[in-house]
Amino acid sequence: MGLTAWVPRHAGVALGAPPAAAADGSVVAGVEPDRIVAASPVALTPRGARLGGIEQMDWPALREAVAGCRACALCESRRNTVFGVGHEQAHWMIVGEAPGENEDRHGEPFVGQAGRLLDSMLRSIGLTREAAPPERQVFICNVLKCRPPGNRNPEPQEVAQCEPFLKRQVALVKPRIILAMGRFAVQSLLRTTEPIGRLRGRVHDYEGVPLIVTYHPAYLLRNLPDKAKAWDDLCLALDTLRSRP
Ligand code: SF4
Repeated sequence: MGLTAWVPRHAGVALGAPPAAAADGSVVAGVEPDRIVAASPVALTPRGARLGGIEQMDWPALREAVAGCRACALCESRRNTVFGVGHEQAHWMIVGEAPGENEDRHGEPFVGQAGRLLDSMLRSIGLTREAAPPERQVFICNVLKCRPPGNRNPEPQEVAQCEPFLKRQVALVKPRIILAMGRFAVQSLLRTTEPIGRLRGRVHDYEGVPLIVTYHPAYLLRNLPDKAKAWDDLCLALDTLRSRP
């Protein structure tokens, strides 16, 4: 099963129409695959200090706060913070774990091979990260906004320092559903140590929003048979969304 044909043959959900040309809301455009984010002057916070009032911030203030954040040690090794991309009123929010090397270079979540697989997964249920109305254009971000060196697992205190940014993103987007991808993201959001295998297949809650657990695309690239399970997870998310007013 290739990257662009990841959906199992038995899948019976109709594919979505091609993305619309423009969104009807405020949209954060994605970067070109080979574009490197230019360094721009940002107001850096003192090392170890986190800004107060995150829960009151609007989008511009939140972006600026993340760009200048030095609340945990990850600020020392990052090239770029990775805020997130997509529609600011998206119905679907995709939450991964932390930026990897490519994401750190580009300043965008889910780029490279895993990003292309995510795009295929989204396309299979009529969603996209490109400009489209809020029911079709997702918002994609990570639990952590800076890359852990060598892609090591994030430390609990790094998650604790960074989580207010994610909570504010959820409060601003007001998604109708959250898709949490990968063990670390899932365990951080749900505050559990249970493996993904035990958390899949049911509807969880994060900040009052229904949350569906699934595998990270990078994992699926190494474990092709589990793509069928990921498809089941997407179908559960669709059913959950459709069952709610
Ligand atoms: S990972 Fe989060 S808390 Fe740590 S420096 Fe980056 S933005 Fe700040």
